[in-house]
Amino acid sequence: MAAYEYETHDYDVVVVGAGGAGLRATLGMAEQGLRTACVTKVFPTRSHTVAAQGGIAASLSNMGPDNWQWHMYDTVKGGDWLGDTDAMEYLAREAPKAVYELEHYGVPFSRTEEGKIYQRPFGGHTTEFGEGPPVQRTCAAADRTGHAILHTLYGQSLKNNAEFYIEYFAIDLIMSEDGACTGVVCWKLDDGTMHVFNAKSVVLATGGYGRAYFNCTSAHTCTGDGGGMVARAGLPLQDMEFVQFHPTGVFGPGMLITEGARGEGGYLTNSEGERFMERYAPQYKDLAPRDYVSRSMTMEIREGRGVGPNADHIHLNLSHLPAEALHLRLPGISETARIFAGVDVTKEPIPVLPTVHYNMGGIPTNYWGEVLNPTKDDPNAVVPGLMAVGEAACASVHGANRLGSNSLIDLVVFGRAAAIKAGKVVDAASAAPATNTKEVDKVFDRFDGLRHASGAIPTADLRLEMQKTMQDDAAVFRTDKTLKEGVVKMSRVAPKLADLKVTDTSLVWNTDLMETLELTNLMPNALATIHGAEARKESRGAHASEDHPKRDDKKWRVHTIARMTGNKVKLSYRPIIADPLTTEKEGGISLKKIAPKARTF
Ligand SMILES: Cc1cc2nc3c(=O)[nH]c(=O)nc-3n(C[C@H](O)[C@H](O)[C@H](O)COP(=O)(O)OP(=O)(O)OC[C@H]3O[C@@H](n4cnc5c(N)ncnc54)[C@H](O)[C@@H]3O)c2cc1C
Repeated sequence: MAAYEYETHDYDVVVVGAGGAGLRATLGMAEQGLRTACVTKVFPTRSHTVAAQGGIAASLSNMGPDNWQWHMYDTVKGGDWLGDTDAMEYLAREAPKAVYELEHYGVPFSRTEEGKIYQRPFGGHTTEFGEGPPVQRTCAAADRTGHAILHTLYGQSLKNNAEFYIEYFAIDLIMSEDGACTGVVCWKLDDGTMHVFNAKSVVLATGGYGRAYFNCTSAHTCTGDGGGMVARAGLPLQDMEFVQFHPTGVFGPGMLITEGARGEGGYLTNSEGERFMERYAPQYKDLAPRDYVSRSMTMEIREGRGVGPNADHIHLNLSHLPAEALHLRLPGISETARIFAGVDVTKEPIPVLPTVHYNMGGIPTNYWGEVLNPTKDDPNAVVPGLMAVGEAACASVHGANRLGSNSLIDLVVFGRAAAIKAGKVVDAASAAPATNTKEVDKVFDRFDGLRHASGAIPTADLRLEMQKTMQDDAAVFRTDKTLKEGVVKMSRVAPKLADLKVTDTSLVWNTDLMETLELTNLMPNALATIHGAEARKESRGAHASEDHPKRDDKKWRVHTIARMTGNKVKLSYRPIIADPLTTEKEGGISLKKIAPKARTF
C-alpha cells in the first residue's frame, strides 16, 4: 500500500472547479454562510469559461419582444426533444433573474443606446415558437462575455469569504459504503502535498472533455476529470454520444470564431461564392442551430464545393460589415483571425471548419444539480452528498444539441440552483463527515501506481492515439461501420493505460503525472461516447447517423446511461422527463407546443 501523508480539511461544501459553474455555485454557497472551499487545478480566471465569446441567453426583451416560453421552446427544439422538460423550463424561466444578478454583481455588459443590456441574435433562438423571425436574446460583453463573468464571480466569491485552493488537482471522490459522497482527495501541484477534503456536499464543476478529440476549441485543461471520477466511483455518465461540433473553428488550429459573428451579420460561402445555408435552412439560414450548420458545411465539402487548394474548408465572410461594428462588437475574433488564420476580417473571409466544441452529455443530474444514479425502480434516484453543474453535468437542458449562448446561462442558473438546494439540505451546524481512510488509501494506491508507471507508452502518445480515433470515428457524420470500427479501436487503445510510462516521479509541478491522471479521466469519457454512439440507431441533434437518418422517438427518446467497469462500458436507458414544471393553466408552456415534430429551420 502506498503511504502518503495528508492534511485534512473539513467543510460544509467543496466545489471542484472554478469556471463559471463552479464560481456561481461557490458564491451562492458562501453568500448563505456555508463554509465553502473551491478547489481548482488552474487559477480561477484561467478556466475555460474565460474563452467564451458570444454571450449568455436570457429573454430580457431589451431589443424586441421575447419571453421565457419562446426561449424554452427553442431549447426543446434545439435539443431535438431529448432534454428533460422540467430542467429546460427551469433554465428559461430563471435565466433573466440569473443575468440581472450577474449585472448587479458587476458584469460589464455591452449596452444599448438607452443603457440596457445589449443582446444579439444567435443560432436557433427565435420568436413565436419558431414561427417568427430570429430574436436578439444573447446578452454580451463585446466578444469577451465569459471573461467578464468569470472575473466578476471570482471577485464576488472572495468578497463572501469563499476559500480557494488554487492549483490543487482533485484525484478522486471519497464515497461511503452506503453510496454517499463524503469528500475528495487532492494533490497540491506546486509543492506536492496531499489534501483530503471532507464535506457534507461535493459539487463537481470540472467542465467538458473536448480534449478527447484531436481538433477542438476547448482548453487543454478540458479533460473531463469529473466524469472520470464519477465513472471510477461506479456512477454513470449520460448521453455522452452527443458531442457538438461548432461550425466555425479556424481551419487548422481550431480556435473558435464565435457564432456572434453570424449573429452580427456574417455568413458562410462555398467555393462558388454561394451562401449555401439559404438552401439548407431557408428560414434561419446561417442562424440555424450548430448541428444543422456543421452538417450543411460538411455536405458542401463532400460534394466538392469546399474552398482552398484542397477544397476542404468553408469561408466565413465578415468584410461586408462596417469596420466600426467589427471593432465594437467583435474585437477578439478580429484578432484571432489575424493571428491564427492570417486574415484581415475587414477585407478577407476567414477559413473555417466544424470543430469539437461542447459536450451535451455528462454526469446526470436533476435541475437542482443533484447527481442521479438511476435504478430500475427509480430512474431519478439521487446520490447523497454529490452534485454536478456546468458542462461536466447533464441536467439535461441541451438534449441532443445545445443552442449557442445556452451554456453560459446553464452555468449560472444551475450553479445558483445547486447553492439554493445546498442551503436547504446541508446542515451547517453538524460536523463534516469523518475521513474514510480505507477509501483514501485506495485513491493513493491508484495515484502511486500511475506515478511509478514503468510501461512502454508515453502518455502523450496514447492520448494522441485516442484523440485521432475519436476524431476519425465519432465525427460530424457517423455510420454503423465507422462507429463499430471506433468501438473496436478504442477497445484496443484503452487497455494501453496499463502500459503507460511516466518518466518524472517527483510530486512538485509534475506535468507528466498530471497529464497522465487527466488521460485516465479522458478515457472513460471517450469510451462512453463511442459506445453510446454505436448503440444509438437513429439521428438526433449532434448524433447524425448516415445509416439511420431519421429520428426515432418511439425507441430512442431516452437518455443513454453508461456505466464503466475498468474499460468495459455497459449501457442502459433512462426515460426523459417529458412534463414541464408548470401547466399551461399555471402560466407554463402548452404541452402541444413542445410536442415532438420534425426539426426544420
Ligand atoms: C472557445 C469557447 C467559446 C465559448 N463561447 C460560449 C459562449 O459564447 N456562450 C456560451 O453559452 N457558451 C460558450 N462556450 C461553452 C462554455 O463556455 C462552456 O461550456 C463553459 O464555460 C464551461 O464552464 P464550466 O464552469 O462547466 O467549466 P470550465 O470553465 O471549463 O471550468 C472547469 C474548472 O474545473 C477545474 N477542474 C477541472 N478538473 C479538475 C481537477 N481534476 N481538479 C481540480 N480542478 C479541476 C478547472 O480548474 C476549472 O476551474 C464556449 C466554449 C469555448 C471552448
